Amino acid sequence: MDLKNYIADVEDFPKKGILFRDITPLMNDGKAFAYATNEFVNFAKQVDAEIVVGPEARGFIFGCPVATTLNIGFAPVRKPGKLPREVITAEYDLEYGSNTLCMHRDAIAPGQRVLIVDDLLATGGTVEATIDLVEQLGGIVVGLAFLIELTDLNGRDKLNGYETLTLMQY
Ligand code: IMP
Repeated sequence: MDLKNYIADVEDFPKKGILFRDITPLMNDGKAFAYATNEFVNFAKQVDAEIVVGPEARGFIFGCPVATTLNIGFAPVRKPGKLPREVITAEYDLEYGSNTLCMHRDAIAPGQRVLIVDDLLATGGTVEATIDLVEQLGGIVVGLAFLIELTDLNGRDKLNGYETLTLMQY
């Protein structure tokens, strides 16, 4: 299945000069959505993942079906102020300023094998901070899975040594 048929290109969103890859048509089509999540499920089996971690919000959409299909858990990564119990944090740089991501301190058990799922790999900042969170908790990142990789932004350079699956490249 050519998943690119289900990605809408939106010019100048969220800012002028940005070409946004909108994945909502893919979610809207049951067969394409199932096909993409099944690719992630197969990858999760290959790397023997024991739990799925996904950053808000689109990491939830693609991570949760993988977790429930395999009868394993899911742990959310969120922006500050959203998780109600004790959290750990990781920061990453943006073009201007920085962002912070959080996880519940008890979300991952030490030694647990973790698959990180998100919709899109751009600069790699989000996934790098997510890896940091998992590793702070003693988790082992066994795989990274994305629908889309924007190759010009060289996010993969930050992911050396981590098994990485991307279903579409632009
Ligand atoms: P990174 O941290 O630069 O790798 O950016 C990846 C994050 O930004 C992901 O969580 C994506 O959801 C989001 N993102 C960046 N660009 C796009 C886009 O074109 N379409 C959808 N999401 C995007």
